Amino acid sequence: MYYSDYHTHTLLSPDSDTPLPLMAQTALDMGLSEICVTDHYDTLEPMGDRSAPFEWAPAVAQIRENQAQFAGKLVIKLGLELGSGHLDRSVLVSAPDALDFVLGSIHNRSEAAGGMDFFYDVPEDAYQTEKGCYTALDDYVSSLEALAPLPVYDVMAHLIYPLRYMQPKCPAVTMDRYAGRIRDLLATVIRSGRGMELNTYRGRTLAEWAPWLRMYRELGGEIVTVGSDAHRPNGMGQGIREAYELLTQCGFRYVCTYDRRKPTFQKL
Ligand SMILES: [Zn+2]
Ligand SMILES: [Zn+2]
Repeated sequence: MYYSDYHTHTLLSPDSDTPLPLMAQTALDMGLSEICVTDHYDTLEPMGDRSAPFEWAPAVAQIRENQAQFAGKLVIKLGLELGSGHLDRSVLVSAPDALDFVLGSIHNRSEAAGGMDFFYDVPEDAYQTEKGCYTALDDYVSSLEALAPLPVYDVMAHLIYPLRYMQPKCPAVTMDRYAGRIRDLLATVIRSGRGMELNTYRGRTLAEWAPWLRMYRELGGEIVTVGSDAHRPNGMGQGIREAYELLTQCGFRYVCTYDRRKPTFQKL
């Protein structure tokens, strides 16, 4: 089986301090064949301010060095996790030809709602109540809808992202009430030739993906990538094997890898 982890971070992300060689060696030890390094660039800072431009040179240099070091053992691709790309796509205008893959994420509230990352439970302890969670999720889904039709990503990342931070405080909250809107936005993703991600959140989320994967498959969706969202070696590759099994159960026959922004279908 050709195992790939298409959502990984290194010290070039603000929330990781792991050098790529350590991530890559762990991927090898885990039996993976390919990883994509998707370091962060969010157009909004965690607290909602606009970000300074992304520096491509260190990202390209890091990939080149490690592609040489791991040649013949592990395929390493240059990716980007672009947050709120619907607000500003200039990072892609300046992207090198070597860029293989772009994950499209929404990590932040809309600027009208303050722009802070959903990691932050604001206003104070809002995630303790369903009302507080759904107020934030209403805003989140609207941002996904703004992102979906735009040519600023290859695969839509972690559709259920805010639940990571909400469900530990409010277990009853789900994305179910947005099913109709998510169906429409997945249809948009498919129509525009892009894909969706099964994000294992370092092996912690799996079963909750099943309904969304089935919906996407029913709509005709075929492009899926799988990623652990590892920021440290202990997350690398976590849940990838289980995710492949789940994809098969949900009717998929392929998982995708990317080369210069074009998908390759790898048999499951
Ligand atoms: Zn993310
Ligand atoms: Zn990530």
